[in-house]
Amino acid sequence: MSDRRTFLTAAAGLGAMGAMAVAPGVHLIEVSQARPAGEPASGKVRWGMLIDTNACSSSCTDCVSACAAENGINEKMANPRQGSQWIRKIELKDPRSGRGHSLPMMCQHCENPPCVDVCPTGASMKRADGIVLVDRHICIGCRYCMMACPYKARSFVHQPLTEQNPEVPRGLGCVEACTFCVHRVDKGQMPACVEACAKAGGAMIFGDLNDPNSEISRRIAQVATTQVRADLKLNPGVRYQGI
Ligand code: SF4
Ligand code: SF4
Repeated sequence: MSDRRTFLTAAAGLGAMGAMAVAPGVHLIEVSQARPAGEPASGKVRWGMLIDTNACSSSCTDCVSACAAENGINEKMANPRQGSQWIRKIELKDPRSGRGHSLPMMCQHCENPPCVDVCPTGASMKRADGIVLVDRHICIGCRYCMMACPYKARSFVHQPLTEQNPEVPRGLGCVEACTFCVHRVDKGQMPACVEACAKAGGAMIFGDLNDPNSEISRRIAQVATTQVRADLKLNPGVRYQGI
């Protein structure tokens, strides 16, 4: 399992928003409009993330730590390879130039998600705003979605859990993955990884891909970005700069 996660195949060639300056040249993007309680997610918004690999250091794992703390991923596994991992750092190396890149990898919140296509129960689902989730009440733990996901983004919970964040339901026998911290986004906050990264490398921007005036859309319009495994035509919501 960890081999699958730490290695991406050679084929991997790969609201309204406001900005707040936290350090010279570093801008923390904040979702300024929380969705009112009870109001369904809107298809007018498509949440996405842009990761600048030039600003991401291989020695930094602050996004991974923040994700684990936020989502209650703290279980001690007898076999560490079975531990849940919603976000991981991977190292890419161009075999011709030798140039390396370090980048966070998580659920790519695909527009056309194969995990949803194969799920026999409807537990894997995509919200109108593009966030792909698992309903743990419906998931039967068959793990078809884990096999279908080309990004190896999903984990299976192998043991009973304690000390959980009540806002982030997790449970034995279910499959799970990055939720873009949907519980935070729905309150007008950023994903925990993005908030942590703003204090570290400032490599992540989160925002509405459908809003041409959002920071993420303006950056994507200005710089070359990559969809990992664009050949699969899944149109992921996570984009990378610099690879
Ligand atoms: S990255 Fe994997 S788990 Fe996430 S939406 Fe795409 S196929 Fe599903
Ligand atoms: S493990 Fe759960 S979410 Fe994944 S395909 Fe099976 S029922 Fe669906």
